[in-house]
Amino acid sequence: MYTEEELIPLSALQHLLYCERRAALVHVEQAWADNVYTVEGSHMHDHADRSGTERRGNLILCRGLHIRSMQLGLSGRADVVEFHLITDPDSSSEGVCLPGYDGLWVPFPVEYKRGRLRHEIGYEVQLCAQAMSLEEIFEAKGIPSGALFFGKTHRRLDVAFDSKLRELTVQSAKRLHEIIDSGTTPKAVKSAKCDKCSLVEICMPKLATRRQGARLYLQRVLSDIIEKGE
Ligand code: SF4
Repeated sequence: MYTEEELIPLSALQHLLYCERRAALVHVEQAWADNVYTVEGSHMHDHADRSGTERRGNLILCRGLHIRSMQLGLSGRADVVEFHLITDPDSSSEGVCLPGYDGLWVPFPVEYKRGRLRHEIGYEVQLCAQAMSLEEIFEAKGIPSGALFFGKTHRRLDVAFDSKLRELTVQSAKRLHEIIDSGTTPKAVKSAKCDKCSLVEICMPKLATRRQGARLYLQRVLSDIIEKGE
């Protein structure tokens, strides 16, 4: 269990799954740079982050809900949490009680993302961490699923919180704490992801690759010299 002071922003998980160096640049070195992707993303969140609760029949929508998990050591705000009323008395779903509302309700987190519908494991881990936070807050058991909502196409991708995704979420949160506690930023490894990374100017992955190349070259030359006994 983590303490209040040790909580890390839940959104850091998506950075970690994208690139560990990116997570460290943002959360260890406090570097941030907006690019078109992050600007569009934050506009989506401005829209979704409006707080408030609204009932639509058997559905309650909570926007901008503060959530946290002491087990994962994470806190943040959920864009939208839907609560679905259990109407079938034989339903196997476990619901939670909501103050001021009759019946049992199944929580269903919805996270807003920019662009077109796509699978990104970082998004799914972030959503799963939201579900696990809601389970802690409401003392609920096994929230079955949630959804990612993609702004450009207005399409939803349902995500099942199975044991594999839950385990990855636990391990990712642990790794995030390790990196932040260590206070060190992993070295850059140039990949295709760097082209869309808003921190590319700060990170300078090409330079790091060149430096690594030069270091490897020197190591090779030195070991040749040692082998030949020069
Ligand atoms: S530019 Fe590449 S290596 Fe650097 S933080 Fe971004 S994804 Fe990671």
